Amino acid sequence: DIASPEPVDETELAIEGALRPASLGEFVGQQKVRGQLQLLLDAARIQARPADHILLAGPPGLGKTTLAMIVAHESDRPLRMSSGPAIQHAGDLAALLSSLTPGEVLFIDEIHRMARTAEEMLYLAMEDFRIDIMVGKGAGATSIPLDLAPFTLVGATTRSGLLPNPLRDRFGFTAHLEYYEPEELERVIARSARVIGMDLAGPQRAEIARRSRGTPRIANRLLRRVRDYALVNAGGAAATIDDVHAALELYDVDAIGLDRLDRAVLDALVRRFRGGPVGLGTLSVSVGEEADTVESVVEPYLVRIGFMGRTPRGRVAMPEAYEHLGVAHTGQGQT
Ligand code: ADP
Repeated sequence: DIASPEPVDETELAIEGALRPASLGEFVGQQKVRGQLQLLLDAARIQARPADHILLAGPPGLGKTTLAMIVAHESDRPLRMSSGPAIQHAGDLAALLSSLTPGEVLFIDEIHRMARTAEEMLYLAMEDFRIDIMVGKGAGATSIPLDLAPFTLVGATTRSGLLPNPLRDRFGFTAHLEYYEPEELERVIARSARVIGMDLAGPQRAEIARRSRGTPRIANRLLRRVRDYALVNAGGAAATIDDVHAALELYDVDAIGLDRLDRAVLDALVRRFRGGPVGLGTLSVSVGEEADTVESVVEPYLVRIGFMGRTPRGRVAMPEAYEHLGVAHTGQGQT
């Protein structure tokens, strides 16, 4: 899906690498978070110690992986990358932690999906740079303590609410990444256009920014599709505003940047469930999508633009959602 905030394939991952800003200074937006991170890194540098553990929370595509790379780069430390789903046993984590070199930055993406047993091992590791390794089974089992090299853990999660408190409490700092303003996305697009050698005027940049769902990953992807369109249809590196409209229309991105899944969820909420309230599970089943995806990817943006509300009784559609779908607003709460 062109407007999906998740990377779609290997090629895209490679291109993302090329478009990643390498320093906090190049990182667009998230001004508060940048200031907070800068202070954390500066303090660590003065004391010549690894920076405190950092948790990055927010929807996909907002720059969590990029920030982890920047933390390593700015503190001049190597970076090790892993992810929650890859850590399914305490042994996986023990192997990873015991192989870290002093001061290394360990990035664990989707940290909320790590195995419970590994999570518990991580508490001690984060606090005391030490783990206990269980050897043997049953009555003969013993635990062998193992000292670790001091490291900085950078955890990323789309669902900070799913992290157990003891884990959350062990991060020295939690950054909540917000969706980007269109002006900020314009700067992301201007920078990326320069990197891919494309000539793009202000109005074109603004139009792509407006339809990027507040997400730099989507902005970069739409930019590449516009580039393709201009290349194929106009044979050049410059794209007109008509090229922009045509390309985005071709890829089914609507006037405000909603993608197929966003619209399916909105449509179900407004039409099938008559504006709600409806539970997350029911809503997700009706669009054939996992509840986790609907909750961490679709809903945050719909809530942010004021189309959807979350109430104790379930999800509800706001008047703006009816307006966008062109459905008469008959009042909420009918079933
Ligand atoms: P996440 O880990 O949160 O899913 P990424 O860090 O992988 O997001 O970012 C996705 C893409 O968006 C990358 O290509 C990255 O370069 C770009 N990007 C994200 N945030 C910014 C930013 N603040 N400034 C410039 N580019 C960004």
